[in-house]
Amino acid sequence: MNILLVGAGLSGAVIGRKLAEAGHKCRIIDSRDHVGGNCHTERDPETNVMLHVYGPHIFHTDDQEVWDYVNSFAEFMPYRNRVKTTAQGKVFSLPINLHTINQFFDKTFRPDEAKAFIEEQGDAGIEDPKSFEEQALRFVGPDLYEAFFRGYTEKQWGCSPTELPASILKRLPVRFNYDDNYFFHKYQGMPRDGYTAMIEAILDHPGITVELGTPYNSDMADKFDHVFWSGPLDGYFEYEHGRLGYRTLDFKRFNYEGDYQGCAVMNYGDRDVPYTRVTEHKHFSPWEEHEGSVCYEEYSRAAGPDDIPYYPIRLVDEQAMLNMYIEKAEGISGVTFVGRLGTYRYLDMDVTIREALDAARYFLGCVTEGKPT
Ligand code: UDP
Repeated sequence: MNILLVGAGLSGAVIGRKLAEAGHKCRIIDSRDHVGGNCHTERDPETNVMLHVYGPHIFHTDDQEVWDYVNSFAEFMPYRNRVKTTAQGKVFSLPINLHTINQFFDKTFRPDEAKAFIEEQGDAGIEDPKSFEEQALRFVGPDLYEAFFRGYTEKQWGCSPTELPASILKRLPVRFNYDDNYFFHKYQGMPRDGYTAMIEAILDHPGITVELGTPYNSDMADKFDHVFWSGPLDGYFEYEHGRLGYRTLDFKRFNYEGDYQGCAVMNYGDRDVPYTRVTEHKHFSPWEEHEGSVCYEEYSRAAGPDDIPYYPIRLVDEQAMLNMYIEKAEGISGVTFVGRLGTYRYLDMDVTIREALDAARYFLGCVTEGKPT
C-alpha cells in the first residue's frame, strides 16, 4: 500500500518504519526543515554542545519493548534527571524528598519523622482532591505548595492551580528518602548522538521517503491508501469547532564560559522570576566535555495560531470541543490520528513510541485480515 505519514516526529518515524518493514511504501512529510518534531536535537556550531532545541527531553521507561526498540537505533548513555529549584532565596532538591523537607523546614528528620510531619502539614479535610491546588494542599501542605508549586504552575500554565486538574501534580512524587531521581522508571538514558540522529536511523529504510519543508494539503490524501496524521487534531479538521488550547514555549538563549548552574535543569518557583526554568544543555550530555556553555531561559505562554504547540491544556471547557473532534476523527476512515498533537494528550516519548508500535500493528493486522483501515 501507499501510505502518507504527516509529521516526521517519533510517531511518524516509528509507524513508517514498521509499515516499510512489512513491505508498504511510506512517504513522510513535515512542514519543518528537520525530522524529530519537538525532540529535535542539534550540535551548536559555536560550542559543539548538543542542544535540545525545543526544550529538554529525557528518555525514561518501564516498557522493555520500547527500551529495546530505542536501543536498536541509538546508543543510550546513562543519564539521571536530577532537578533543582530556586525558591525564596535558596536552592532545593526536587522532586520533594527528605533532603528538600529537611532543608526547607530546617530539620534533621529521619524518613518516618518527615512523613508524619508532612502529613500534619497536609489538609486532611480535602478528601478527594480535584484540582492541582487541592492535591498540593492535601499532600504537601501550604508552605511547600507556595514555595515550589504555586508560582511555577501559574507561570507554566497561565492560570490558577485551582483551575488545573490534580493529575498534573500527580506526575511528581514526594519521597521520604534521599532519592532525587526525578523519574521512577527502570530505564533512563540519553541517546549519545541526540534524538534527531536516532530518528534519522529509524527513518533509514528503502521503503521510506522523507520530504521536509512540505506542509500537508488536503489534495495529497487522494494519492494514498491511508494517512497517519500526527499533526494537530483540530488542524486536520481546519479548526471548524475552534482551536484546542496549547501552551507554547519561548527560549531565551545565552552563552556562558564555563559552568553556569552546575546542573541541567534549574526550576524557579518564585512568581517574580518570569521564566519557569533554566536549562544548561551540556549537562544533558555529561559524558562530553565542553568549555563553553549554552543555556535557555524557558518562558511559557498561550500558543497563538502560528506558534509551535507544546503542552495540551485540556481545561474543563476544552473537553467539549475535544469530544467533537474525537467524534469526527472516529467517524472517518482511511486516517489514523497519532501522537501528542494528533490525540491532544501530554505524552512522554516512551508512551508515544508504545502507541506508535501498537497503531502500526493494528493497521497491519487490519490489512492482513482484509478489514477497512
Ligand atoms: N511543577 C511545579 N514546580 C516545579 C516542577 C513542576 O509546580 O518545580 C508542576 C507544574 O505545574 C508542572 C507539573 O508540576 O506542569 C508537572 O511537572 P513536570 O516536571 O512533569 O513538568 P513537565 O516536564 O511536563 O514540564
